[in-house]
Amino acid sequence: MSKRDYYEILGVKKNATLDEIKKAYREMALRYHPDRVPAEQKKEAEEKFKEISESYAVLSDSKKRALYDQYGHSGIDQKYAYEDIFKGADFSSVFQDLGDYGVGGGLFDQIFSDLGFDISGMRTRRGGRARRGRDLQVTIEVTLEEVATGTEKRVRVPHYNICPTCSGSGAKPGTKKTTCPQCKGTGQTVMSSGFFQMAQTCRRCGGEGAIIQTPCSECRGEGRVKVASDIEIKIPAGVYTGSQLRVRGKGEEGTGGKGDLYVLIEVRHHPVFKRHDDDILSEVCISLTKAVLGGEIEVPTLEGKVVMKIPVGTQPGKVFRLKGKGVPDVHSGAVGDELVRVNVDIPTRLTPAQRKLMEEFAMLSGEDPSKSSFTDKIKRAFK
Ligand SMILES: [Zn+2]
Ligand SMILES: [Zn+2]
Repeated sequence: MSKRDYYEILGVKKNATLDEIKKAYREMALRYHPDRVPAEQKKEAEEKFKEISESYAVLSDSKKRALYDQYGHSGIDQKYAYEDIFKGADFSSVFQDLGDYGVGGGLFDQIFSDLGFDISGMRTRRGGRARRGRDLQVTIEVTLEEVATGTEKRVRVPHYNICPTCSGSGAKPGTKKTTCPQCKGTGQTVMSSGFFQMAQTCRRCGGEGAIIQTPCSECRGEGRVKVASDIEIKIPAGVYTGSQLRVRGKGEEGTGGKGDLYVLIEVRHHPVFKRHDDDILSEVCISLTKAVLGGEIEVPTLEGKVVMKIPVGTQPGKVFRLKGKGVPDVHSGAVGDELVRVNVDIPTRLTPAQRKLMEEFAMLSGEDPSKSSFTDKIKRAFK
């Protein structure tokens, strides 16, 4: 089958600029990403994805493009092996800003390697298969006060970085990796058993196809070194225990880009307040006289103490609402309230003078304080 024209595949004119080519490729790559089509179209999409990627690799490279313009497919095919067509092509800038749409660089890295492209050449790193760094996770404890305002925290995150001495290759600078004798550089070994043939990742080289002769002294051939970074993390107001924040590109460094850092939030137990969604609940105790006569009391809030009015005749258990003294909703920013439950402190010890006054109070209310409250109630019920 003869190959289709690269310009036609991307749907661009012969004199298209690099930007137009990039744009066309990006649109098509998103449309034909094999992970974004129904399962039955996957195979077809993969072929299409390869085709458009190849077109882009050639037309985005001025040298290859000139060769293609002059000699067509045969010009390219004579000069480059299939994999080499992709070497040096800039794929990362086409997709770099897609992270926020859920089709981030990681997904494209994966598809490139699934399709058998050697993406190590597409990236700046030499040697080995390009891998995105691992995602990392830290847990951060915040107080309810910090939840109310939002905060910034500095955390120390231990992780691995690409070894600066060998740039991640694991080989001592100046030495080269040699082709793995086990798999002859393919990274796979084939096992036969009866009718079946099974390809396995080569154990000798771990699928890299190459082995290190002289290991780098800094990382002892691992290609990575353990470090700890201090990372400033912005925590928005309204987070709750279990909230997860993603900090892009703050994960581990890999040859195919950096992973992300996931921050898990834990809101510390508060000695005074309980949280109920965006509202907070508190309890205060007032004196018997304040409950009866009314007045003002000081109430704790997340922003400090405020004065609250107690109306005359406040019943025990009455709940007052302080508007806007709760915590914000993490999405909408709408602030909840503080609900203050008022308990009444009944005195357990009275001085003789206080006792006398209470008895007088009872008499004035029509009660006889010397009678038990039970008979008193009964009497009143039948009055
Ligand atoms: Zn090293
Ligand atoms: Zn091998």
